[in-house]
Amino acid sequence: MNPQGQNNDIPEITECIVCGKPLTSDRAICKLKQDGLWVAICCPHCYDSFQKKSKYYINKYMALKSYKKIWHGQSE
Ligand SMILES: [Zn+2]
Repeated sequence: MNPQGQNNDIPEITECIVCGKPLTSDRAICKLKQDGLWVAICCPHCYDSFQKKSKYYINKYMALKSYKKIWHGQSE
């Protein structure tokens, strides 16, 4: 792990996974990989919530993601 190459595989994250607040990667207090998914946290309070219910937030995030895909990516 070298610090310079580390950023390359972290995708741009646009919102806090807990509260959904718009967020850029450099403003997140914390970025972490959970179940193969990069997530961003905006504040210690959200971090705390995420630690307690990470599965719940991951599932919610994934569901929202596929929901958005249906709305924006519909081709038929
Ligand atoms: Zn948040």
